[in-house]
Amino acid sequence: MEIGVVGLGLIGGSIFKKLKSLGKYEVVGVSRSVKDADVSDDYTTLSCCDIVFICTPMSVTLEILDKLEIYVSEKTIVADVCSLKGFVSKKRYKYHFIPSHPMAGTENSGWESSFPELFEGAKWVITPLAGEDDKAQKKLEALIEDLGASIVITTAEEHDKAVALISHMPMIIAQALCENIKDDKLAQTLAASGFRDTTRLALSNTQMASDMVKMNRENIELAFDTLAKSIKALLGEDYPNKAETIKAFRKKLFKLNQNT
Ligand code: NAP
Repeated sequence: MEIGVVGLGLIGGSIFKKLKSLGKYEVVGVSRSVKDADVSDDYTTLSCCDIVFICTPMSVTLEILDKLEIYVSEKTIVADVCSLKGFVSKKRYKYHFIPSHPMAGTENSGWESSFPELFEGAKWVITPLAGEDDKAQKKLEALIEDLGASIVITTAEEHDKAVALISHMPMIIAQALCENIKDDKLAQTLAASGFRDTTRLALSNTQMASDMVKMNRENIELAFDTLAKSIKALLGEDYPNKAETIKAFRKKLFKLNQNT
């Protein structure tokens, strides 16, 4: 089976490196910057691919999906990896298009930061388009499992709401926590592991963060509304019991995720 990867940054580079390391796929990369074996800037190299991953920034992905119609056949399966799914789900293409989102990443970007183990144990969301071919989806799922991830199927709408809660809002909170102490020298001196861990998402890739905030604003605002209610309830009466319940929930949440 021949696999193509467009955009060899953190996500695309990690897919490319992992698939190559498996030795069972022919892998070609399309890149504007990477010089490596089986990588070029020529989209015609994708013409024989069975599956193509588009791993470019969200702001250019629609343009690349359009461009791909010239280079691949109707039989080709194309999956994007964008952090939002609604905006890529509006159009139909001549090829089989399957929106997807690997729930894996680091604060780094680019080919040099990519590594084959990135998707080991991660969830990988698929938001199938209505009327799409089940066989094409099964093929993509098998490939994603070879990358080390497990599949979660949902809708684009539900996905975009959920990532506002677990990714986009926490990133903005991490940024705001840093902003909040920028003039407080003592707080900066005392900031230790708790503050460091809580603010890790402030290191997120700036282009990706900007795209998320711009393109998922409505869901992010809804997430902040529910958070405000949660904070109000938490700071009401019976804080110790609530804190205990939350601790148990937090422990169970990640244990469950590791086992499923
Ligand atoms: P990245 O490391 O910056 O890689 C993006 C790559 O896209 C660049 O290295 C470049 O590759 C190519 N590219 C950049 N600008 C382009 C343009 N104007 N036209 C065409 N190609 C361009 O970013 P990433 O973190 O891998 O993110 C890629 C996608 O994955 C995004 O859609 C993001 O939402 C999604 N995602 C990211 C994460 C995360 O945590 N980082 C997690 C899940 C999903 P070449 O130099 O090879 O052309």
